[in-house]
Amino acid sequence: MNGDVIESKLSKIAKRTTANIIRELLKATSIPGLISFGGGVPDPETFPRAELAEIAREIVLEEYQITLQYGTTEGDPLLKQQYLEYLKRHENIHGLSDDQIVITSGSQQALDLIGRMFLDEDSICAIVDPVYLGAASAFRIRAPKFINLPMEPDGPNLQILENSLEKMSADELERFKFLYVVSNFDNPTGLTLSLEKRHHILDIAEKYKIPVIEDDPYGLLRFEGEKIPTIYHLAQQRGLQEQVLLLNTFSKVLSPGLRMGMVIGNRHVVRKIVMGKQAADLCTSPLLQRLTARYLERHDPLKVLQNSLKVYAAKRDVMLESFEKHLIHFEGTTWTNPCGGLFTWVCLPKHIDTVELLEYAKERKVIFIPGSAFSVDGKSNGNCMRLSFCLPSEAEIQEGVVRLADAIDAYQKENGD
Ligand SMILES: *Cc1c(COP(=O)(O)O)cnc(C)c1O
Repeated sequence: MNGDVIESKLSKIAKRTTANIIRELLKATSIPGLISFGGGVPDPETFPRAELAEIAREIVLEEYQITLQYGTTEGDPLLKQQYLEYLKRHENIHGLSDDQIVITSGSQQALDLIGRMFLDEDSICAIVDPVYLGAASAFRIRAPKFINLPMEPDGPNLQILENSLEKMSADELERFKFLYVVSNFDNPTGLTLSLEKRHHILDIAEKYKIPVIEDDPYGLLRFEGEKIPTIYHLAQQRGLQEQVLLLNTFSKVLSPGLRMGMVIGNRHVVRKIVMGKQAADLCTSPLLQRLTARYLERHDPLKVLQNSLKVYAAKRDVMLESFEKHLIHFEGTTWTNPCGGLFTWVCLPKHIDTVELLEYAKERKVIFIPGSAFSVDGKSNGNCMRLSFCLPSEAEIQEGVVRLADAIDAYQKENGD
């Protein structure tokens, strides 16, 4: 067969690249009557489509020399400037210069480029367990060694990180590249790093001279409680900002279809990421960058979001109330109570395998993402699952949780408990 010839030539990286379970699952979303807690996407009704349409028309007709042309790899200067303003206003991050930012095609490209720029096959990096799938796939293809830090209610277990670093030889410490964390309303757990742990992370970063990659797509999606400063901001106050890279994106606050992400940090590293990006895609779409920039000039996404946040918070309440009613009697079941973002994380009794449970759930027209999808080796969190409350209506959430409880009942009956 001719196909075998070309396939046999694929790289090691290609061989490590595998389909992701979320992609596969999202295919099931076309079953009529299905209630999906699976998708990690914002509600399309929140997209400001009239405003974007008006600006799009205008910038195609009037700014075509920029918007329909190649752009610089670093990104549209106007967008960078708008983004710096946005960081000042919403994150209290000041003092950045233009060469400390690069615009990327979503945060996903930033994660991929960070993987390429930092990780070799003998590298070591620390991630949280469960981990954001997009980061896991971007890092995993580089085949580093992972130190998994179990997630706790206030953020990753840092004792394990410290113990590992303490035991490392000078050579291993050199090969240790970074700690990757999602600081707010984590994907998949919905949990937020406490202020104490943010400082603790910086203590460790300072002591062992290790970089921190802070991924913060959900920080502005807070429903309640006090905002906690980003690790980057805290690092600035402690003079450690050169050790932190902050990843941000407009996917969750404006629209993921814009594919608008950015990295800020040390200018030499930003420069390297720019060079990597040049090889990857030359530039992020100038049309979409300018669209985002002009939108930010005229509107404050946070103000626009206020309404959606109320809707998300109400849906979260309905979901947690439904858990109280229908899941509580499965002994040992726990769930997180997120103060923002899109997800809650449910752990069922240990003997339940949520990959198998998903088959029972699909028969009852409800889906979720099994917990094992969020570990680098696919092995941990087998009894857990991620549920998103943002897309289904309140009535669908109630009905979906009833169906889920029914699926668990059926699973237990057939598999014995
Ligand atoms: C959604 C998400 C992103 C954003 O990815 P984009 O490529 O910007 O759409 C990044 N990190 C985490 C943890 C996410 O959940």
